[in-house]
Amino acid sequence: MTQTLVVIGGGIAGLSCAFSAHERLSASSADVRVLLLEAESELGGRVRTRESAGHIFEEGPNAYIRPSAELSSLIERSGVEILTADDSAKRRFLSKGGELHELSTHPLKLLKSKFLSTTAKLRAAAEPTIGARRSEHGNHPSEGWGDESVEAFFARRFGPKVAATFAAPLVSGIYAGDPKRLSLASCFPRLAQMEAQHGSIIKGMMALRKEGVKIPMMQAPAQGMQSIPRALGANAPFEIRTNVSVTGVTPSGTNWSLSLSSGEELLADALCVATPNRHAASLLSASLPSVSAPIFKIRSPHLAVVSLIYSREQAALAPLGFGALHVHDGSSDLLGVIHESHVFPARSVDGSLHMRVMMGGATRPDMAELADDQLAGLAIEELRKLHGFSEKPAHTHVTRWPEAIPQYELGHSRLTQDVRAAIETSEVPPIALAGNYLTGVSLSDTATSGAEAANSLCDRLCP
Ligand SMILES: Cc1cc2nc3c(=O)[nH]c(=O)nc-3n(C[C@H](O)[C@H](O)[C@H](O)COP(=O)(O)OP(=O)(O)OC[C@H]3O[C@@H](n4cnc5c(N)ncnc54)[C@H](O)[C@@H]3O)c2cc1C
Repeated sequence: MTQTLVVIGGGIAGLSCAFSAHERLSASSADVRVLLLEAESELGGRVRTRESAGHIFEEGPNAYIRPSAELSSLIERSGVEILTADDSAKRRFLSKGGELHELSTHPLKLLKSKFLSTTAKLRAAAEPTIGARRSEHGNHPSEGWGDESVEAFFARRFGPKVAATFAAPLVSGIYAGDPKRLSLASCFPRLAQMEAQHGSIIKGMMALRKEGVKIPMMQAPAQGMQSIPRALGANAPFEIRTNVSVTGVTPSGTNWSLSLSSGEELLADALCVATPNRHAASLLSASLPSVSAPIFKIRSPHLAVVSLIYSREQAALAPLGFGALHVHDGSSDLLGVIHESHVFPARSVDGSLHMRVMMGGATRPDMAELADDQLAGLAIEELRKLHGFSEKPAHTHVTRWPEAIPQYELGHSRLTQDVRAAIETSEVPPIALAGNYLTGVSLSDTATSGAEAANSLCDRLCP
C-alpha cells in the first residue's frame, strides 16, 4: 500500500526536505508519496520578493554566501539565473556617531581604524597573547563547557571597547540580535573553533590568509530570491498544496492524523514539521509537549526591512560598497543598510540607488510600535544626514516580520539537544523537525536541516 510522507511548510527547509525525500524514495523500491502543505498562497516562506516599477524588493533574504551542498542542489534544480556580487561589495562600512568608516578584512588593519582609542587598540592587539578558554570537558557547550555570550567572547579576547563597537553590529547583520544574550558557540561556531584550534582569532585569521582562503562572494538570482522556490514549485515531481494550513497533528496508531484548515483530515505515515519555531511548538504542544516546550523558549524578535530607491542623481553620493552596519551607541535607529544596487548592479533600474535598511531586532523592540511611514521617515532622515541626499527616495517599500529570526541565546545548544532527545525517545510515528531555529539561520543551514529531516524519515520508511 502507498505510504505518505507529509512536509508541513514550503519555506527553504520544507522544500529541501520534500525534494531530498522524493529523490531518495524514487531511488528505492519504496512506494511512498511526498506531499507538501503550505499555509500561504505561494512557496518561499521568508524568501519573499516583490516587484514594482521594475525594481526588485527583497523582503527577506537578499543573497546567500558559501552555499551548502543542500542549498546548491535546490538552486541547481530551480535552474534560475544566478548573479555574483560585484567586486565593490567587498567594501564594508561601519557607521558610528553619524559617520561612515570603511572596514578592512585584514585583522591588523582593522585595529588601525580611527574609531578605537589607542588603549583599546593596544588591548585588542594583545589578543594573540590571551590564552584560549579551555575545559577538561571540552570547548563547546554541547561538550559540557559553559556557554559564553558573543559580547563576553569579544570582551575576553579583544577588550570591552572592541566588544562594544563590533559585537553588536556583527550580530545585527545576521541575527538582528543582542550580543549579551546570543551564544557564541551556537551563532558563530567558526570563531569558537578558531580559538580552540589556533588559540587566537587574529592568529586563526592570519592562517586563513596564508592558506589563500578568500571570503566568498555573495550570490543571488537575477530575478530575486523567490524565483528559486517559485521555479522549484512549478517543476516539483511531488504534490504541493498551497493555501492549506495544518491546524493540528495527532498520533493515530502507526500514522499521524493531520487536521487541515480546509476541514479535511489526512493520514501521514511520516511527518516533517518545517514551519517557523512558534508554529512548530504550537502544533506539537498536545502530542509532544517535551519537544514543544523547549522550542517555545526560542525568541524571534520583530524586524522591519525598509527599501528605498533614490534617483540616479543621488546615487553618486553614497560610497560604493556592500553597505554599513551601525554601532549601537544610541546615535542610530538603524541596524544596518545594504547598498543593493552596488552589490548587484545588474538589478539597478536606470542607475538608481537601492538601499535596504534593517530596523528593530532584539535590541530595539520599540521599533515594532512604529507605523510603516514612521519607520521609513527615520530611515530616510538618517541616510540624508549620512550621505547628504538632497532628494527623497522615489519609491519606498516597507516589510514587517513580527517574528523574523530565531535567537540562538545562551543555552541554545542544550536546548536543541533536549529537542532531539525528546523526539528520539518519544513513541510516536516517524516525525522530524526542520527549520532555521535548530542549527543555523542561514539559507544554507536551513536547507541542510531539511535534507537531514528527509534522511531520518526515509531511514524509518525504507530502512
Ligand atoms: C529580513 C530577513 C533577512 C534575511 N537575510 C538572509 C540572507 O541574506 N541570507 C541568508 O542566508 N538568510 C537570511 N535570512 C534567514 C533566512 O531567510 C531564513 O532563516 C530561512 O528562509 C527560513 O526558512 P524556513 O524554511 O526555516 O522557514 P520559513 O521561510 O519561515 O518557512 C516556513 C513556512 O511554513 C509555513 N507554515 C507555517 N505554519 C504552517 C502551517 N501550520 N501549515 C502549513 N504551512 C505553515 C509558512 O507559511 C512558511 O512558508 C533572513 C531572514 C529575514 C527575516
